[in-house]
Amino acid sequence: MAHEDCEVLYSQLAARGVTRRDFLRFCGSVAALLGLSETMVPRIAAAVESAALKPRVPALWINGGACTGCTESMAQLGSPDVATVVLDLLSVNYFETIMMAQGEDAEKAKADLAAAGGYVLVYEGTVMTGFDGNALRVAGKPQTEELPELCEKAAAILAVGSCAVDGGWVAARPNPAEGIGIQQFCEDHDIATPIINLPTCPVNPEWVVAMVVDVLFLGGLDEQGKVAQALVDKLDDFGRPKLIFGQTIHDNCPRRGHFENGEFVYEFGSEEEARGYCLYAVGCKGPQTFTNCPIVRWNEKATWCVEAGAPCIGCGNANPLSAGGNWVDVGAPFLNRLPDLPLSDTTTVQPAAAASVVGAVAAGALLVHGIGMKAAGRMDGGAPYEEIRESDRKKGGGR
Ligand code: SF4
Ligand code: SF4
Repeated sequence: MAHEDCEVLYSQLAARGVTRRDFLRFCGSVAALLGLSETMVPRIAAAVESAALKPRVPALWINGGACTGCTESMAQLGSPDVATVVLDLLSVNYFETIMMAQGEDAEKAKADLAAAGGYVLVYEGTVMTGFDGNALRVAGKPQTEELPELCEKAAAILAVGSCAVDGGWVAARPNPAEGIGIQQFCEDHDIATPIINLPTCPVNPEWVVAMVVDVLFLGGLDEQGKVAQALVDKLDDFGRPKLIFGQTIHDNCPRRGHFENGEFVYEFGSEEEARGYCLYAVGCKGPQTFTNCPIVRWNEKATWCVEAGAPCIGCGNANPLSAGGNWVDVGAPFLNRLPDLPLSDTTTVQPAAAASVVGAVAAGALLVHGIGMKAAGRMDGGAPYEEIRESDRKKGGGR
């Protein structure tokens, strides 16, 4: 790319107080999120530079039943910020929560986009199918009336946040508005547009930016403007990018050593909490939640839930095609500890059991790891686990 062409992007960045060094650091973090080596950083930089010279990619951001927390999360990207500049390379013609246009002008912008097709549809919130779709009316009609066409004509759908993925808390029991995720809605209407699911409540904005770079600038769309098979192959069975949702919170948690030692917090405000012990006994769902929150972190990488002292409540869990399988129905009450740790599809165990009978548990990695920990003496002398159930009982749990 000609030097002067690069200047188009760099002058945009400079106007926001972002240096070239910031930009390259950003490209490095996108590469890490996409599982690419550092040698790909120049290619990512070149792709973004080149996108700055092309017509902007049309995008449509619509809300179902939502608290708009995901929009708010995106606003926490920070400004000036290189990620904001990248998002500016999208032409978001319709964004219900923050756009200036209202009424007929806004609806016309949406209709024009739908007629042209080939846009990226960002869906935030729960699809409200209840009361014949009247649970959510937009511009005087049920949203479910216009949604099939909007989904059908999109090049790709980015489901941001747990509500968009599987209904989230909006669809939690008893779910009177019959909320579902956008993937379920597309299945019900035989719509085959590729969907990338990004759960958590709210969505982590860094994942959204990485997906925008992957889909739009790194060849995620083929020549027909449809999502390329290579990108679809990067998704897991729940439509989530494997690199972001491929490891548990527990795998990367800085409190993991305390878990292994049997050192748990049983009560907030206790000495154990002050020592930073493991939060499993007060409900941490980290062992069963697949996201890279401990690595990517939140609020401009300032911190994340467990580091801030709260148990992971499992908002990254998703079940796009299973009604009642959202993270709230599965994980509440949040401060009750999980009944068991899954070792495999059919075997579960409690941590104390793992510590005391680990030699007899014939199950995979935890067995091998546990034997090593036991041999090293790290499972002896930790805080007792099963004996202390009073705090669970007080919370109405004790499962
Ligand atoms: S149970 Fe939670 S707090 Fe404890 S190590 Fe695992 S993720 Fe960290
Ligand atoms: S750490 Fe757990 S509760 Fe916190 S955002 Fe990540 S998945 Fe959600």
